[in-house]
Amino acid sequence: MSIALEHVSYVYSPGTAYEKHALKDVSFEIPQGQFVGIIGHTGSGKSTLIQHLNGLVKATSGKVIYEGRNIYDEGYNMRELRSQVGLVFQYPEYQLFEVDVISDVCFGPKNQGLSQEECEKNAKEALELVGFPEKYYKQSPFELSGGQKRRVAIAGVLAMKPKVLILDEPTAGLDPKGRDEILDQVEKLHKETGMTVILVSHSMEDIARYVERIIVMNHGEKMLDGAPREVFCHYKELEKVGLAAPQVTYVMHDLKERGMDVSPDVTTIEEA
Ligand code: ADP
Repeated sequence: MSIALEHVSYVYSPGTAYEKHALKDVSFEIPQGQFVGIIGHTGSGKSTLIQHLNGLVKATSGKVIYEGRNIYDEGYNMRELRSQVGLVFQYPEYQLFEVDVISDVCFGPKNQGLSQEECEKNAKEALELVGFPEKYYKQSPFELSGGQKRRVAIAGVLAMKPKVLILDEPTAGLDPKGRDEILDQVEKLHKETGMTVILVSHSMEDIARYVERIIVMNHGEKMLDGAPREVFCHYKELEKVGLAAPQVTYVMHDLKERGMDVSPDVTTIEEA
């Protein structure tokens, strides 16, 4: 089971003065259970790409294959796809609106047609998965801290029991402590559930510490795709696209300290 793009290209506003080729012939396959980071500078096509994965944006050309089926086939159940491929947008807390936390997290499962009891069960499980304290379940989401709001918003997607969780810049606007807490929690939930997790970021530090595979986007094209140690071997190309070499060096040392197998070529970046 996997989710894949096959030669996907996407053009915004074709035939107008605003025409923009946001994705150019992008292909990859992500097997179920993988933890993948998508990185690239602002405007490299990351958001456009992930919106293809749950059918929010339709490719100008190419295919999106989920569990062996092309999602553009006639009669394909897009509603089902959207509940299985959960997408958490940037600043998801802006979409919180219910009177209390638990009602907010129940919103998705309610739309899936589950009973009140099932909704609450799923909501509680989801809130537990994101490490949200039970004592605040009846609190208004608007009274929470930035980090806690974000947990509630992520739980709202998890409550629909997706098989694939996509997070678009989940640490944007958080302080370093909030950032580490959210990423540690995402790593934990990946381990506990075995869900596919796709983490989108422009920060090499955020990505490299957690994921098992990195896809680097550059001007709408897939530039690199591999395990962190393989991707970092291309540090000169990474530097060219604004993912600076000193930053990569720092990340590599960090990975080594965590006991990861780091290629000897890469640890000598400083001397390069
Ligand atoms: P990223 O998420 O990496 O910042 P995006 O996918 O948002 O990149 O954008 C890719 C390119 O498409 C950028 O050049 C951006 O300006 C352009 N783009 C994004 N959304 C739109 C839109 N709605 N209309 C026209 N161009 C867009």
